[in-house]
Amino acid sequence: MAKEVGLGLALAGLLFMYLNGYDVTPLLFLGAAGAGLYYIARSRGLLARHFVPEQPVNQQEVSFADIGGQASAIQELREALDFIKNYHQIKKLGIRPLKGILLTGPPGTGKTLLARAAASYTDAVFIACNGSEFIEVYAGVGAQRVRRLFQTAREAALRQGKKNALIFIDEIDILGARRGTNASHHEYDQTLNQLLVEMDGLKVDDRVRVLVVAATNRPDMLDPALLRPGRFDRLVRVDLPDRQGRLEILRLHTRNKPLGDDVSLEELAKETFGFSGAHLESLANEAAILAMREGSEVICQRHFQEAVEKVMMGERLDRRPSAEELRRVAVHEAGHALVSELVKPGSVSSLTITPRGQALGYMRQVPEDDPYLHTREYLENQVAVMLAGAVAEELVLGSRSTGAGGDFQEAARVAEQMIKNGMSSLGVVDAESLPRGLRYRAITEILRGQEERVRRFLSERKELLEKVVEALLEKERISGEEFRRLVS
Ligand code: ATP
Repeated sequence: MAKEVGLGLALAGLLFMYLNGYDVTPLLFLGAAGAGLYYIARSRGLLARHFVPEQPVNQQEVSFADIGGQASAIQELREALDFIKNYHQIKKLGIRPLKGILLTGPPGTGKTLLARAAASYTDAVFIACNGSEFIEVYAGVGAQRVRRLFQTAREAALRQGKKNALIFIDEIDILGARRGTNASHHEYDQTLNQLLVEMDGLKVDDRVRVLVVAATNRPDMLDPALLRPGRFDRLVRVDLPDRQGRLEILRLHTRNKPLGDDVSLEELAKETFGFSGAHLESLANEAAILAMREGSEVICQRHFQEAVEKVMMGERLDRRPSAEELRRVAVHEAGHALVSELVKPGSVSSLTITPRGQALGYMRQVPEDDPYLHTREYLENQVAVMLAGAVAEELVLGSRSTGAGGDFQEAARVAEQMIKNGMSSLGVVDAESLPRGLRYRAITEILRGQEERVRRFLSERKELLEKVVEALLEKERISGEEFRRLVS
């Protein structure tokens, strides 16, 4: 309101001076420059009285029961949080309060969810922000924002009558990287120093007890001062879920969805090796969208199957390849599938020539049971499967195409892994100090060996290859079972 009155008075003054014959151009110019500076400062948050985090306080309550596949992370976190809940006892025994918990792990594994659940568990207000929000080119702005963040958390807790506040800083590596590593390091260092000062100032008998939970997938980047006892002294690993974990997450994200009788979440958990919680959530959502598009009342297994492909490979492409290209893609994928079935019966999960994302078609294998180790035979077989697409093209169509570039790269990567692990003809070697020429020869030897094996196998089964190609061209997508029926 005061702003409007001031503006009105200034305009009236200008008008008065103008009517009395004064030259008001310099004043107008100065006024415009001042307004411009004010606008820039405001937009950069230099004048904001409070730090306003990305998400407002307490959006939606989340409990530990809403998080699947993270039993050990939840247990560790709970143990740490019990310290906060039993603060009377802690005070009596003179234990220093827990100030920070660092969650580390790949993206989408539920770190934000865990922080939210931690806030509900301790009945704390939840304030979330991102490390990047503190970084500005202006010295001192980041530090000021850190101060305001703690202030905002305390005030919010008091307003809501709560005793605890939980500040969640996502991607803390941006603000907490080793001091001196950034180009404009003075500003970064000041911001980090301020965070350390704020954390050091937290006491067990504060009116509002503040806990800082931070998340990163690069704990190695953090300044050691952050990990010192008394700061982030609890480290909780949040890993990609294993098969049982994936099943739990799928159950959580399908509990409010109507599922068809044929849906097997166990089967889907098995097929989604490497998926994070966020991938699985997206999978359940995509399956529901596909069912809706089809006008189906319930979500069936085929919707989930297609959603797995969509989450893995991306949206279907509208652009259709030419008939000739389609045939080539079908031959390529049929080659992969036949060799996959040779090296491991029952390993083909699906085959398609629908272009998606970067791929014109693909053959998906049933993932292994979350293996920790790979044998030499397994790696050789993988190389064979990867080379089979190009070899099939050559046998059936007389030439190769650029479609196999990615396969070759992947095959070479596996071959290198074999050399590193002493599985090549070089025996046990230090891969790092291996002369380039020798390394090249060892990789080529592995690739050529498998290429020959695949050529021998496929050249004896050209009719079978054609049969699969025809089926693929007709249906676009065939499941593992259909494929096996075809070739049995
Ligand atoms: P980032 O590191 O990218 O910030 P994050 O680890 O914080 O990711 P979240 O933001 O917690 O991941 O997860 C994103 C979404 O994925 C959640 O809203 C939830 O729907 C789903 N999700 C992730 N992990 C799990 C899990 N363990 N259980 C249930 N849902 C999960």
